[in-house]
Amino acid sequence: MAFKIATIKGIPIYIHMTFFLVFLLFAFIFDITPFPYGFRGVDPAWLRYGFSAAAAIIFFVTLLLHELSHSFLAISNGIKIQGITLFFFGGVSVLENPDDKAAVEPSKEFKIALVGPLSSILMGLLFLGLNYILFGTFYGAALISGSIEVGNLEIMYGWFSILLFLVGALNLFLGLFNILPVFPMDGGRVLRAWLATRYPFQKATEIAVSTGKIFSIVMAIIGIVFFNFWLALLAVFLYISAAEEGKAVKTSFLLENVLVGEIMTTDVITVEESMKLSDFVNFVFQKKHPGYPVVKSGQVVGLVTVDDVKAINEAERYAFSVKDVMRQDVLFVQPQTSALSAFEKMNTNGVGRLVVLDGNHHLVGILSRTDLMTAVNIRSGLHGNNS
Ligand SMILES: [Zn+2]
Repeated sequence: MAFKIATIKGIPIYIHMTFFLVFLLFAFIFDITPFPYGFRGVDPAWLRYGFSAAAAIIFFVTLLLHELSHSFLAISNGIKIQGITLFFFGGVSVLENPDDKAAVEPSKEFKIALVGPLSSILMGLLFLGLNYILFGTFYGAALISGSIEVGNLEIMYGWFSILLFLVGALNLFLGLFNILPVFPMDGGRVLRAWLATRYPFQKATEIAVSTGKIFSIVMAIIGIVFFNFWLALLAVFLYISAAEEGKAVKTSFLLENVLVGEIMTTDVITVEESMKLSDFVNFVFQKKHPGYPVVKSGQVVGLVTVDDVKAINEAERYAFSVKDVMRQDVLFVQPQTSALSAFEKMNTNGVGRLVVLDGNHHLVGILSRTDLMTAVNIRSGLHGNNS
């Protein structure tokens, strides 16, 4: 659901599909909101769209800079960065978990989380300062009455001033808001890091996530009561990200101490790459497995699932073999690999199955996303009963 747009200092930058919706939403809100938080009143319309889009673009660039500040500090603390994904409200920098552990050291997380809101506040002050230097005001310039005749620079300047004010104010707001000790905002991570020096990491996360959920519910209620669209919208996104973050941490924790060998499917049935697709379909009906490693002279050369067959028209399947539709980008893991790193390997590479080979390169199992989720469900059930 995300694709790469750039690589900065070795950090891949991804854009999530939802980002475009949010981007359009931002541009739309800038377009319909009156001065000084938007460009309603700018005439002609194309100029209004232009300012709205420019504000949204510059704002998202500052979000990227915010994320980069986390990443650079993480790197200087010896933590690897898998990448930055931009979606709503700042995006996410994915830290690579050191030594198969789900947690980054609390003292490091504290600093890495804190630098984000600080850089947003700094950028906010810079934009407002620039506005002051160029237009002599911290607020939107006063020259905004009447319609803009193209070429009427005085009025144009007024709107440029609004642009700087808007981006500056948003960054300042973002930074101050983000520093609140509420998960999943940066301040929440700071809180979690602080809690993690007192409680086990997972417990610390649970407390921080609950804080975040309660906070966003209160925020949504306030937003609805006062008809504040921005607030209600933020609340919804915060709630979702709090819940997701909590789930991700829980999953990581449950998988951290599990080995691939313990949860993989061992009764692996392989198919030869030369098998006709029509035969393969019958084979699947008999065996009732969804996915099969494909072998050629005893070596695993691919993976094939029922879905892969759908690419070929039913009437033509006799003319094709498994080789024609199989996935060749097979990833291997060993039985003694932790389930957490297998899970991360699947996520980084966007695959749903890994082939498990032992030290002698013999096929010993297959690990699917379902195997992982079953393991998580069973273990979270046990966890619930124990605590
Ligand atoms: Zn941040």
